[in-house]
This record gives sequence, structure tokens and C-alpha cells, in this order.
Amino acid sequence: PYTGPSASEILEKRKEYLSPSILHLYKNPLNLVDGKMQYLYDENGRRYLDAFGGIATVCCGHCHPDVVEAIVNQTRRLQHSTVLYLHHAIADFAEALAAKLPGDLKVVFFTNSGTEANELALMMARLYTGFHDIISLRNGYHGNAAGTMGVTAQSNFKFNVVQTGVHHALNPDQYRGVFGSDGVKYARDVQDIIDYGTCGRVAGLIAEAIQGVGGIMELAPGYLPAVYNCIRKAGGLCIADEVQSGFARIGSHFWGFEAHDVVPDIVTMAKGIGNGIPIGAVVTTPEIAKVLMGRTYFNTFGGNPACTAGALAVLKVIEKEKLQENAFVVGSHLKECLTSLKEKHEIIGDVRGRGLMLGVELVTDRQLKTPAKAEILHIMEQMRELGVLIGKGGFHGNVFRITPPLCFTKEDADFLVGAMDYTMSKM
Ligand code: PMP
Repeated sequence: PYTGPSASEILEKRKEYLSPSILHLYKNPLNLVDGKMQYLYDENGRRYLDAFGGIATVCCGHCHPDVVEAIVNQTRRLQHSTVLYLHHAIADFAEALAAKLPGDLKVVFFTNSGTEANELALMMARLYTGFHDIISLRNGYHGNAAGTMGVTAQSNFKFNVVQTGVHHALNPDQYRGVFGSDGVKYARDVQDIIDYGTCGRVAGLIAEAIQGVGGIMELAPGYLPAVYNCIRKAGGLCIADEVQSGFARIGSHFWGFEAHDVVPDIVTMAKGIGNGIPIGAVVTTPEIAKVLMGRTYFNTFGGNPACTAGALAVLKVIEKEKLQENAFVVGSHLKECLTSLKEKHEIIGDVRGRGLMLGVELVTDRQLKTPAKAEILHIMEQMRELGVLIGKGGFHGNVFRITPPLCFTKEDADFLVGAMDYTMSKM
């Protein structure tokens, strides 16, 4: 049993010693002390079904024994910086990761986070092309350092950041966007930005295939191929931010971009890659990778032995336990159930996403699409009481984000839907 400080004691310390801007879910935040696969346990030993997976960071399940074993064994033997010496764990994972990517995407750079991965990707695109302008999508999230906060396009996450050479394109938002699901029409905005907002040449584009923080918004079909075309004609590189949509989560494919039939020039990843431990990566072609030669690009801990040993175990678990297939089967079932719930409850405006990356947008008026901001908070609190943890996001904070560990079962999905249905019925 847990004998540490209580939730209220931790909260007191947090108020005094931690950033005032940290956010937490729930009026009385949960004090989580244990995790096992798709379950989390609080200080009283109460079990919760985890449908948010720590913002999609947990892919093969909390404390998966194979991953824990790999990390512990490596840490017992040696844990040090990534640079300066050789270590097989780093090379082994780079090789295994490169094998998961198409085409010539074969050179891996390790980082500690998604932010760092995207910062590096943006810098490489600028160095490689010799141009400065970057296009990203409104409603996208890419990180919290100078460059990535600049390309992030939601005021909620932006401070007074300098963002020269950044252009935010019309979001191909299939629910609220002016062109509905016609991806090619939205893509014209990118061509307009290039024609009217730049010298006609750009460094590149950065985009998520399914916007995570932005409320599980899958880019309209046809958008990415058309936009990749415009960017490449303007001399730019295409960066796929797979921090949330990568690593088997979408079920139909291993990477989010694959569902859009494109091959990026640079792919960035983090979160699920380490099943909860800090590691990120940039994968690109040998030709683009060369831009970092001649100077030293240095990252003390990016891809250190303990993290890469753990991440290699993650890849093996995904294969061994057929987690991509599971994400497809369970995710499709869950999406169907949520879609039927929409027939029953007026408050559900939209159900979307793929595999185990699903979104449920709540509105108080289906015609006006008025965000149901207060209602979503109420439902989240009630679902927590019923033992289900779920995320939320979107610009208005009115979209449920369902991104559980990929070991989620059909029974788990039914339990989640039951809890949501019950709560909505009681409102
Ligand atoms: N890209 C995407 C798509 C993300 O969702 C996030 C994190 N929410 C990041 C980048 C930044 O990752 P990190 O928080 O690890 O820096």
C-alpha cells in the first residue's frame, strides 16, 4: 500500500514550489501512484481505466514488463551521455527505427522531447533549402521552444514569441472548416501563402496528420498530397510531426502520414516512442542529414542508452503483441460505439479520428456548433467518478481526446462508452 503524502499535501507543495502555469485535470487532481498496462491506481488503491495514456505517451501499456526490464538492465550496467563514445543500444534502436520508415528515411537523430525534435527538423529544413519561411497549420501544436512555439498555432500555447518567417495556413478542419472535407481546396491557401507571403521559395511545411492537442482533427483527405506538391515546387521540405499519431496508434498504418499517401522528407517523433520515458527522434534522408556536418550538433542525453534500450523494447512489444492490429480492431469498434452514441445524445457534434486516436466534440447546438465547454468538464468529472480517465483538447477545450495505451481491449472500450453514455443520460 501507498504510504506517501496525500493528494492535498502534494497540491500544497505544488502551489508553493512549482510553476503557477502547470495545468491539471479535475477539480481535485488525482494522485496516481501505480500503473499497470491500461490501468492507473490512485493513493487509495482505486483503479481507473486510462483512456488518455498520459497524452498518448504510453503506447504498450503502463510499466510494461519488457520495457521496464530493458531500462532497468541497461541502467544497472551503464547509463551515460549519448555523445563521445560508442554504445550498441543507440545504434541498435536507430537501425530498428529506420526499418519502420519508408523510402530513404534512414538517418536518425535522437532528442529528449518532441519540442527538440521539431526544433531540429525546422533548423535542418532551413539549412538544407537555404530559405527561411516555414508554413504550419492553424490549430497545430509542435512544441514550446522559440521555433516550435512560433509554428504552433493556438493562442492558448503561445507567449510573446518571436516568429519570423512563419505562416499559419488555413486548417483543413473537416468539422468546422469552410471547405468541409475537400482537402484540395484548403491546399490552395498554402499556394497563396507561397505566392503572396514569401519570395516564392520556402524552407518547408510542418504538419501533424491528425492534430492531437488541436482536438483529434484528421486533416481533410487529399490535403497533404496537394500541399506537399506546392511546398516541393517552392523548393521546400515536408516535415511530418508524428509525435502523437506515430507508433501504430492509428491502427491502419504505423505512421499518420501513411494514411495520406505521402512520404515526408523529415519525420519527427516523441511520446509513444519511449512508452513514457523521455526520448524523441528526427528521421531524415542521408542527403538532408549532411547539413549538420562540419559543425557539432550536440545533445547530451538525447537517445541515451537507458532510453534507447527501452525504446527498442517498445518496438518489439508492438510487433510481438500485434498492437497496431489491436489499435485498428479495438479503435474501429470504439469509433462505431461512439458514433451510435451520437445518435442518442444531441451534445455530441462530431466523432472522429482513427484507431486509438479518437475525438468526440461536444456542442450545445449542433447547427451553430457552439462549444460545450462547461458540459465537457462536468462529464469528465463524472467519468472519473465512474473510474474512467479521458483527455480533452481542441481550441475551445470541448473535444474529448481518447488516446489510450494500445493494449486497450473491446471490453475497455465498452466500459468507456457505457460511462460516457450513463453520464450524458443523467445530464
Ligand atoms: N508535437 C506534437 C504533435 C505534440 O502533441 C507535442 C506535445 N503535446 C509536441 C510536438 C511537443 O512534444 P514535447 O512536449 O515532448 O516537447
